[in-house]
Amino acid sequence: MRKHSALLSTVALAAVLAVAVPALAFPAPQAAAPAAQASLPKVVILATGGTIAGVQPKEGDPGYKSGSLSIESLIGAAPGVDKLAVLEGEQIASIGSQDMNDAVWLKLARRVNEVLARPDVAGIVITHGTDTLEETGFFLGLVTKSDKPVVLVGSMRPATSTSPDGPLNLYNGVAVAADPAAKGLGILVVANDDLHSARYITKTNTTDVQTFISTGRGALGEAYYGKMVVYGAPSNRHTTRSEFSLDGLTALPRVDIVYAYENVDGTQVKAAVAAGARGIVLAGVGDGNGTQALIDALAEAAKQGVVVVRSSRVGSGIVRRNIELNDDKLGFVAGVDLNPPKARVLLRLALTRTTDVKAIQRAFEEY
Ligand code: ASP
Repeated sequence: MRKHSALLSTVALAAVLAVAVPALAFPAPQAAAPAAQASLPKVVILATGGTIAGVQPKEGDPGYKSGSLSIESLIGAAPGVDKLAVLEGEQIASIGSQDMNDAVWLKLARRVNEVLARPDVAGIVITHGTDTLEETGFFLGLVTKSDKPVVLVGSMRPATSTSPDGPLNLYNGVAVAADPAAKGLGILVVANDDLHSARYITKTNTTDVQTFISTGRGALGEAYYGKMVVYGAPSNRHTTRSEFSLDGLTALPRVDIVYAYENVDGTQVKAAVAAGARGIVLAGVGDGNGTQALIDALAEAAKQGVVVVRSSRVGSGIVRRNIELNDDKLGFVAGVDLNPPKARVLLRLALTRTTDVKAIQRAFEEY
């Protein structure tokens, strides 16, 4: 009974803390001594919500609400994190990442660039829901103009669970963001003691804590109780070598994903074109394929100037040009190893520059 009311008061506190707060400087309760703090690198934590900030309304109940706790609460729940870095926290949003949207993306990406431009900042940690973390991470990798570490962390279990995974992910994320050896690796993801490139990870399990896998590549390294080990680097263009930027960008072009399956027709494609899509990504069967009816509808859209990228619903592998479909004739782009949501991210940014299919194919080969 006592426990239950303690939990209820956590929920009430969460509701109060969930409101956006301006930048706050920590020391948390057991801050390092001032002299030790002075020699620590500075890490800024940008919070967006997610299960890592999730609260169960009822103790022991698997149901919960994402994005309920503030960044101060998350820092307070990760013992020793204040000994790794001088922390500064900022609430960008308080949402489940299933609700991620362009307004939050543009705000977050602008803030990442502003914060990294500060000479006193070593790196950034972003707390984020796991549902769309791979899309946000890839987007940031294309528009961030710094080689300082940016590390996304989330969790599969809410903060109030019996065994939450968020605190150690946050602890390890701060350690990586503060580590000079993480410079130049692009946007990183720390999850379940693994260090990944956001470019390659994908969520592979609905609820398991071991959900993130870098398909086709493997992890970049490990982050274990604050110690980072790196055994690889991303090979695609990113951050300081990206041609894309936020300059003058107030909105992103509409790109829809259409899903292929047995007997599918062109209804989704027609609806996307009617809604004003400037690009369509095919989540194709197998090697980016679809029924003749679907391919005909896509070819018709391409003829009207909509850029069509073929990706696959399979979950791993490369979609190459001109295998079972003649991309040259159809005017399609092959999505290489980007899964449909990531292909959508790159296509949206590419469309801010060009509609030329050859130039967009080149972007898919480089990023
Ligand atoms: N739906 C949650 C979110 O993406 C899941 C999570 O964070 O693990 O915000």
